[in-house]
Amino acid sequence: MDSRIPELQRRILELKKKRRALIVAHNYQPLEIQQIADFVGDSLQLARKCAADKRHDIIVFAGVRFMAEMAAVLSNMPVYIPAPDTLCPLAGYVTASKIRIKKRKYPGMPVVVYVNTTAEAKSECDVVCTSGNAVEVVQSLGVDTVLFGPDKNLADHVRRATGIRVIDIEPKGHCYVHQQFDVAQIQLLREEHPDAVVIAHPECPLEVQEAADMVGSTGMMAKTVAESPAKEFILATEIGMVEQLQAAHPDKVIIPAYNGARCIQMKKNSLEKILRVLEDLPQENRVTVPDELVPRVRLALRRMSKAPSAALSVPVPRSS
Ligand code: SF4
Repeated sequence: MDSRIPELQRRILELKKKRRALIVAHNYQPLEIQQIADFVGDSLQLARKCAADKRHDIIVFAGVRFMAEMAAVLSNMPVYIPAPDTLCPLAGYVTASKIRIKKRKYPGMPVVVYVNTTAEAKSECDVVCTSGNAVEVVQSLGVDTVLFGPDKNLADHVRRATGIRVIDIEPKGHCYVHQQFDVAQIQLLREEHPDAVVIAHPECPLEVQEAADMVGSTGMMAKTVAESPAKEFILATEIGMVEQLQAAHPDKVIIPAYNGARCIQMKKNSLEKILRVLEDLPQENRVTVPDELVPRVRLALRRMSKAPSAALSVPVPRSS
């Protein structure tokens, strides 16, 4: 462990109090950041936390930019991101203009976008979804076809679970971190750990989802590991989640389906950068969303929250 970590954490906690800052961290953040956060969770959980908070003056959002944008839309507090250049490559696959082109091609068809999109792209959709509630959101529309993006693997997950026709806004959209998992790795690990429960994130390729026992968001993974009587889990998701769950459950064995599944963007945040934000509140770290986009993004997020409850505790079972 880096010997500077405890001192940096101490200074952050001191300043956090002085600034009345809420620090939230995504599950994929480095463990030393998760340790000083008020709340750690998936993107939906973090957005809800920021929206509901009334006790702080500022938010420091340790995640990637689109997540901080959501917090800025849903909260009245100034939102800061430790590393302003944390752009999720998956979010880059679907732009507002791409959505407009698809809408012209398929007039009247509902547009569902994954939370991993810019605020500008969200402003062009009907409803937002997360990996934890994509199935419920699409089902709640009561239609037989939807436009969906940007993640082609999450689209496959929705197709498989709902039987609804899902048209990709961008058929190449994927997360490079989750695209790296493969079935051979999982089979090998299953042979070594025959009692382990395999959980795959829906951003993994379809064949990996089908090779898993459960498919779900990081929020679902945390809940399953905490509540399941099983002692071993193989997780096909970003390594930060594996580290977090192993630290929280020392009595269980949490095995990464692939050790190299590391999101470079998420790891751009650091304790040093959080400390700098708290010291100086630099303008370049402030995340804002243009006023004209806010009502439409808020509406798309509100529609998501009206869909039946997210699948945090009801993972999609493996098809046999
Ligand atoms: S893990 Fe994938 S989807 Fe998540 S922020 Fe990183 S690149 Fe984007």
